[in-house]
Amino acid sequence: MRVHVDADICEEHGQCVFAAPDIFDLGDDGLTYAIQVDDTREPEVLAAQSACPVQAIKLTRVGASGM
Ligand code: SF4
Repeated sequence: MRVHVDADICEEHGQCVFAAPDIFDLGDDGLTYAIQVDDTREPEVLAAQSACPVQAIKLTRVGASGM
């Protein structure tokens, strides 16, 4: 799946980092994250999405057909 964080609404408090520290990171340059995540990591990504207070995390599931 693909991960996208809407930088216009992300407040960079880092709740997603606590939920999925291998996918999201908050450093001097602000929030960084893995854009492409294996489907096996879906529980962590969903936990991060749920933890985000402003719903800034968007997910796109890439189907087996490529679309
Ligand atoms: S939890 Fe949401 S608002 Fe906070 S840093 Fe993560 S994406 Fe941004």
